[in-house]
Amino acid sequence: HPAQRAAMPAQSQSGGPSVAFEAVAKTYTGGVRAVDGVTLHVEGGEFVALVGASGSGKSTLLKMINRLHEPGEGEIAIGGEPVSDSPPHELRRRIGYVFQNIGLFPHMNVAENIAIGMRLTGQKRNDARVAELLELVELPADFARRMPDALSGGQRQRVGVARALAAEPKLMLMDEPFGALDPLTRDTLGQSVRAIHERLGLTTIMVTHDMAEALLLADRILVMEAGRIVADASPHGMLTGKGGAAADALVAVPRDQAHALSRIEAGE
Ligand code: ADP
Ligand code: MG
Repeated sequence: HPAQRAAMPAQSQSGGPSVAFEAVAKTYTGGVRAVDGVTLHVEGGEFVALVGASGSGKSTLLKMINRLHEPGEGEIAIGGEPVSDSPPHELRRRIGYVFQNIGLFPHMNVAENIAIGMRLTGQKRNDARVAELLELVELPADFARRMPDALSGGQRQRVGVARALAAEPKLMLMDEPFGALDPLTRDTLGQSVRAIHERLGLTTIMVTHDMAEALLLADRILVMEAGRIVADASPHGMLTGKGGAAADALVAVPRDQAHALSRIEAGE
């Protein structure tokens, strides 16, 4: 798509920022220690998947990056700059955030919904920019005038991704972004998100409970258990036992499925 390349030169040139956690912990009122001492360095440009059971602290960890939650202990820095130095609203302008069942305003069409992401940065409503964003998330240009209730779940999530990208963030946080979608839609949207990551040179941190999805999309996988990072390895490392016991149990599921499918395909 040469038109898109020409339209967004700045985004594909400088890389996404690093994200560093230094001894970060968070205890909620009521005593739940959701994040229990996390020290972690995500490199600029990495696509990291954060995997773990429900309640392991994944969302809490993610939401401390854009200050939807404040850490009780420790410090988080984006590109070397402590997040506590930036007011939350200013920080959220610079960070894309996509979550399960991302809400679109039902009384606004797709273009208006995407434009909300631009208004946050003071950009004026810009039809050419909306068209660019629709193309980036692989939706037809004439979807700009559709209402949200005329879209499938997958198409709505694509609009949500477009809105999150509207302010040209270099860091994308995704919390189970495909959680509510059927497997085929989930797979194609996952590949789109990975392609966008490459094309715009982003840093992406994606929470998922699906190890297969993490293995297929990410450069690096972190496994969380009871508020701690218990494994940190590449997909290849995870599949060759370098993630340790906690990771092995999660990796065994898709690997055994893949082997079983191969045997069926081979007619064994
Ligand atoms: P995950 O995203 O891995 O499912 P969460 O970060 O949502 O995990 O939750 C981690 C732990 O913190 C859970 O025990 C959860 O019940 C608790 N928790 C999450 N949000 C809150 C909150 N706002 N107040 C109190 N406890 C919370
Ligand atoms: Mg969660």
